[in-house]
Amino acid sequence: MQTKMLINGELVEGSGEALPVLDPATGEEVARVPEASVDQIEAATRAAEEAFENYRLTTPAERAGHLLAIAEVIEENIEKLAELETLDVGKPWPMARDEEMPLTIDTFRFMAGAARTMAGSAAGEFVSGHTSMIRKDPIGPVASIAPWNYPLMMAAWKIAAPLAAGCTIVLKPSEITPLATLRLAELLADVLPKGVLNVIHGRGASIGDNLINAPRIEGISITGSPATGMAAMRAASNQIRHVHLELGGKAPVIVFDDADIEAVAETIRYGSFFNAGQDCAQPCRVMVQDGVYDRLVAAVSDQVSQIRIGAPRAEGTEMGPIVSAVQRDRVAGFVDRARSSAEIAVGGNLGEGAGFFYQPTVVANVDNDAKIACDEVFGPVVTLSRFSEAEDALRIANAGRYGLASSVWTKDVSLAMKMTSQLRYGMTWVNTHGVPAAEMPWAAMKGSGNGCDMSVYALDAYTSVRHVMVAH
Ligand code: NAD
Repeated sequence: MQTKMLINGELVEGSGEALPVLDPATGEEVARVPEASVDQIEAATRAAEEAFENYRLTTPAERAGHLLAIAEVIEENIEKLAELETLDVGKPWPMARDEEMPLTIDTFRFMAGAARTMAGSAAGEFVSGHTSMIRKDPIGPVASIAPWNYPLMMAAWKIAAPLAAGCTIVLKPSEITPLATLRLAELLADVLPKGVLNVIHGRGASIGDNLINAPRIEGISITGSPATGMAAMRAASNQIRHVHLELGGKAPVIVFDDADIEAVAETIRYGSFFNAGQDCAQPCRVMVQDGVYDRLVAAVSDQVSQIRIGAPRAEGTEMGPIVSAVQRDRVAGFVDRARSSAEIAVGGNLGEGAGFFYQPTVVANVDNDAKIACDEVFGPVVTLSRFSEAEDALRIANAGRYGLASSVWTKDVSLAMKMTSQLRYGMTWVNTHGVPAAEMPWAAMKGSGNGCDMSVYALDAYTSVRHVMVAH
């Protein structure tokens, strides 16, 4: 098992404490990975700073070449990397290989093209005798912090856009799921110029905190919880740094009386329980118009009760365990606290075995302001609540703290247009939910963060607009 970090083109063992990595399906330890020391964090940020001096001057075509080479390396190692994701996160093996890896690879391929679209607006004379032009230049070395739910794909989002923009990187994967990212670091050691990508390992509150406060870093990019986003903003305020945040979500699924009920229920089955519900865009807060409420509860319950929960490598497993005992207990706590005021229509208990399993769960008759309806559970749980008029649904959804994903289900085009124009969420799907495309932004608003990953707009977080004026 590759457990070394990548600093300045060299694979080095962390000199800090060795942290256990557990298989969520069995609870057993599968590796011990030593954390970075303070000196190693310093070495990684210094390497990124030194490499920036040359990397920022590379042409878009050269950067595109690097990104395409990364995509190729991942494609050549797809089976092994997917295996590590399955081991780390407990996700069903075919999903890691067939759903996550293609998106991960496509992220690099898309950004290879995006690198070549970066251009300022045309030059012009805005003061007579002077020509102005606009440049978009890379901000500098970036501290990138990734979460545990899709470790390699999130690492791809944290690597591809800054590299396309001309930035260098120190990446820290989640301390509980580092294996695929560390293997990728090894695979890329000879693919990228040294120091352009550095990967370190360690806990958030110590190693992550040290990294985002490092003096040589110019930008901080976080995908994680709101608490980590706040830590990043505090760190950025100390040194005036660029901050890009993709944080939690609590996606409303607004179902009108004329919606295709079976389509909603099927989307809930596959979308809400994919990755055991550990997905920032998870369709989890189902808001249903009065006329179809009972039918939808029945249809969703029927679909969810058929989900096959099991070991990630077992034939036919649709949903594996939750990533850790801590996260499983957090999910169980949300459901247990809701029992007295809502109805557990499906699930609501721990799964069998020594792993961190929790049953796919449907909680019905939930008040719109209940904790379980408003806070991010980040597990295999959906809630169903009622609304009467479109204005009520808009008000309830927009009052939510988060602003990442949302969806509207209706056959009425005018109603769909009104809802999509007034929902305050970075992404709104109509009659589907959560479908990603590398060309389109994964966009955050409100408590879910700022800016976006994916699409050409992702480059904005890693570039500064500059004005150059020439007198003549
Ligand atoms: P987390 O915030 O606990 O950890 C994310 C990363 O931040 C980890 O690498 C962790 O070590 C690091 N970290 C924690 N505290 C830190 C600190 N003080 N300083 C620096 N780094 C620190 O989140 P998680 O539990 O790994 O992931 C789940 C969260 O991520 C959920 O809220 C989920 O919605 C969110 N998420 C968002 C998106 C998105 O695109 N918006 C995608 C995936 C996950």
